[in-house]
Amino acid sequence: MKKTISLSISPICLAIALGIMTGPAQAKPVTWEDIKNDAATPEDVLGYGIGPKAQRWSDLNAINTKTVGKLTPAWSFSFGDEKQRGQETQALVHDGILYITGSYSRLFAVDARTGQRLWSYSHRLPEDIRPCCDVVNRGAAIFGDMVYFGTLDAAIVALDKKTGKVVWKKKFADHTEGYTMTGAPTIIKDQKTGKVMLIHGSSGDEFGVVGKLFARDPKTGEEIWMRPFVEGHFGRLNGEKSTPTGDPKAPSWPDDPNSPTGKVEAWSHGGGAPWQSASFDVETNTIIVGAGNPAPWNGWARTSPGGNPADYDSLYTSGQVAVDPSTGEVKWFYQHTPNDAWDFSGNNELVLFEYQDQGKTIKATAHADRNGFFYVVNRENGQFIRGFPFVDNITWATGIDPKTGRPIEVEGQRPPLPEPGQKHGKSIEVSPPFLGGKNWNPMAYSRDTGLFYLGANHWKEDYWTEEVTYTRGAAYLGQGFRIKKMYDDHVGVLRAVDPGSGKIVWSHKEKLPLWSGVLATKGGVIFTGTGDGYFKAFDARSGKELWKFQTGSGIVSSPITWEMDGEQYVGIASGYGGAVPLWGGDMADLTKPVPQGGSFWVFKLPKH
Ligand code: CA
Ligand code: CA
Repeated sequence: MKKTISLSISPICLAIALGIMTGPAQAKPVTWEDIKNDAATPEDVLGYGIGPKAQRWSDLNAINTKTVGKLTPAWSFSFGDEKQRGQETQALVHDGILYITGSYSRLFAVDARTGQRLWSYSHRLPEDIRPCCDVVNRGAAIFGDMVYFGTLDAAIVALDKKTGKVVWKKKFADHTEGYTMTGAPTIIKDQKTGKVMLIHGSSGDEFGVVGKLFARDPKTGEEIWMRPFVEGHFGRLNGEKSTPTGDPKAPSWPDDPNSPTGKVEAWSHGGGAPWQSASFDVETNTIIVGAGNPAPWNGWARTSPGGNPADYDSLYTSGQVAVDPSTGEVKWFYQHTPNDAWDFSGNNELVLFEYQDQGKTIKATAHADRNGFFYVVNRENGQFIRGFPFVDNITWATGIDPKTGRPIEVEGQRPPLPEPGQKHGKSIEVSPPFLGGKNWNPMAYSRDTGLFYLGANHWKEDYWTEEVTYTRGAAYLGQGFRIKKMYDDHVGVLRAVDPGSGKIVWSHKEKLPLWSGVLATKGGVIFTGTGDGYFKAFDARSGKELWKFQTGSGIVSSPITWEMDGEQYVGIASGYGGAVPLWGGDMADLTKPVPQGGSFWVFKLPKH
């Protein structure tokens, strides 16, 4: 780089220096109205989930069931470095620039027309980070002149979207305790105060941290409020201690007369981390987000000796939480898995959608939980509407009680305590396993078919109880496991699900586990990626595979589509990793041949 402008400078450099270039150099600030209307504006993608309702739906239809077979690569961008591992990102697009997060807390700005790197930011990570499930990042947020993303050392970074220079950086927790951040932040606007906020959560349930949701001023990074998701812990509002979450006595967690806090240690390390992105209901001014598993996984550590697990729900974990943006107070909570003993967690995305019931519009959330059930919940009050299985052979519950909204548990599916003198309890077989009927990889909702499209998995686990004591910064599970195959011919299963009837409309099998997000389009095409590296397109109505392209590494990211210069583009990151190869038992062996990678692929139709 030249330090001073000399006479030898090229006209192009001079133009940049004088700020007279058109295009990316004069990128417009992103407004709240832009973010609110994201789903209706195909020229950009401004948030995780493509719009505050997180439906992953696009009105574009140039690429449709008839034309998708001609889809051709436009360009590919390599993340570079020797850093690879899982690429779980969903890219953003604004003003001809793609913002793509990468493994190891990296962010790239790339020219959407050419794939040329404009700038990159690589966060300096300490040696002692503790990500449970690979060094992944799922995406950025964009607002004003900045892009924002979370880092594995439990910080949020705001970068100037034009230059990639750090504007502010906030550490939200101690990473040596086990706090990390992998999810994309969400920009919302409090409809009461008119304040725009950056909402982000935390990760770390496997290390026994108390999960927290934060609201910040996007300009400065200053905290507005913080809400913990373990009952009895206090929140913060404008720098002051605010209210407890739920009952300050935390009756959903057992007492221990010998502990200094009056609660067993699990309560102090209780999990509930909201590590996925929040959705935002503009109409009711409500943030809706999934809460993680209670810690430790071992449910007996969260039940008084001789007690009944059903008496200790471990609120506000493994459920969906509605939060008031003005105060950070919990508006309502619905728990998918009370006293979760299986690490089902409640983190999977909450998709906001509406449907007609006897002439009335019902505003609902849709959620496909790791526990194998698909939930439809009234998002105005948190009332359970219906729940049905979306994967085969669920063993831990026979269904959801329509009156109480609680699971009807199968006896013997909570792994028993070790016999006296034994270190491990008797192993039981459970399905789904802790990796879930579906994991974080987000589903899509088609406004045309009214169906949800999700990447599910058929697998099971051997599961047994182990002794557990809390050690700061160490894994806090109290369970042992081995993931196994359920069927010989497939693990992954892409499914179209009817949220009204619970009917599985079609299924498409994949040999390897599915860990990629899904995109639904007006063209009647569903896009997703596979573990063995294919980016694929399916007919939304029939499930027929229409097109595929080998990207060179496994896909565990979420696709996007946008319109530029009158053409429709589709893009997805390739790079295998995530929880499956690290934790997956038999699946780790199955996925071993998949090569590592780190690239972004963009496709369009040929002009002629
Ligand atoms: Ca848009
Ligand atoms: Ca977990």
